[in-house]
Amino acid sequence: MAIEFSERIRRIPVYPTAGAYALGDDVAMLASNESPDPPLDAVVAAAQRAVAGANRYPDPSNSELKRALSNRYGVPSARIAIGNGSCDVLLAAGEALLEPGAELVYAWPSFSVYPHLAAASGARAITVALDDEQCHDLDAMATEITAATRLVIVCNPNNPTSTALAFADIAAFVERVPRHIALIVDEAYCEFNLLDDPDTTLDLLAKHSNLVLLRTFSKVYGLCGMRVGFALCGSEDFPRAVDQVRQPFFCNVAAQAAAVEALRHQDAVAERVERAVVARVEIESGLNDLGIEPAASQANFCWFDLPGDVDESEVVAGLAERGVIVRAGGALGRPGALRVTYGTPTQNVRFLDALGDVL
Ligand SMILES: *Cc1c(COP(=O)(O)O)cnc(C)c1O
Repeated sequence: MAIEFSERIRRIPVYPTAGAYALGDDVAMLASNESPDPPLDAVVAAAQRAVAGANRYPDPSNSELKRALSNRYGVPSARIAIGNGSCDVLLAAGEALLEPGAELVYAWPSFSVYPHLAAASGARAITVALDDEQCHDLDAMATEITAATRLVIVCNPNNPTSTALAFADIAAFVERVPRHIALIVDEAYCEFNLLDDPDTTLDLLAKHSNLVLLRTFSKVYGLCGMRVGFALCGSEDFPRAVDQVRQPFFCNVAAQAAAVEALRHQDAVAERVERAVVARVEIESGLNDLGIEPAASQANFCWFDLPGDVDESEVVAGLAERGVIVRAGGALGRPGALRVTYGTPTQNVRFLDALGDVL
């Protein structure tokens, strides 16, 4: 007889992971918005030193990392939450805020982890379609806020569409969300956003105790394999609540040490952003040459509809045969679209050549 699982297990969607983790080295992994650059030597060394003390549990209050983040962002440690990746903070937020009868509001297509929050808690997900530019429609989102709303999530820049809203739009929206409703602005890609200084949103924390800026070491810092993310919050309540619903040791010693060291190398962050922006320009022009108009990217990846009635899964398979792994839009909410992470210059050329070939 089969094991009887809880009702939740039938509701929770299975996260659409990228394939190709078992492929060889000669593959361009452009499916998961990872950094093409390995971690800095100093970051690897810091993680290795930390592993030498792994007979001890990690610091459950993540105090050194919080201190480093506090210095970098000017937010007090007590208003910072750490996570085993920022997804850990998201899932904990769902647990801490949601329950049957509650609602959460987010745009769609957006990050594929958000649907999990409603399914896991029994809350109702209110999804709001993106506008014609594939950007968040904040007016439409504001009208979906009701007495039952507990959580609103805005992904800026948005995954999978790569588009971003200007700071002024975010600031105006924050004003419209009542103070008792948590508002998470998921800024996983904010460093790549050239519309505004990525740190401008930090100013909103002083005035809005319900605001949570969710950030990660997974993207521009190139540490997704370590699993560490963080939230900069407008009050101490949110960090306290997400810590309450999790096991005490969610962030391991190596991840904490790597993150602290990575923060010391802001020059490397700036260089990575510069390389991503060069890739953005090259890939956009290469796509244009193929008659494709990608969405206006402010991230480290592009998003575009395939021309005509080309079959998306055939293109994904054709690219994979040529050693280029990308993400099909169907699993992300838009059949006929592709999401492609910027890689190294060589990988980007390989992608464009392969796409031209397949089409
Ligand atoms: C990649 C990504 C994250 C980061 O997830 P981690 O758990 O920190 O690796 C968060 N939000 C969005 C929208 C993302 O695309």
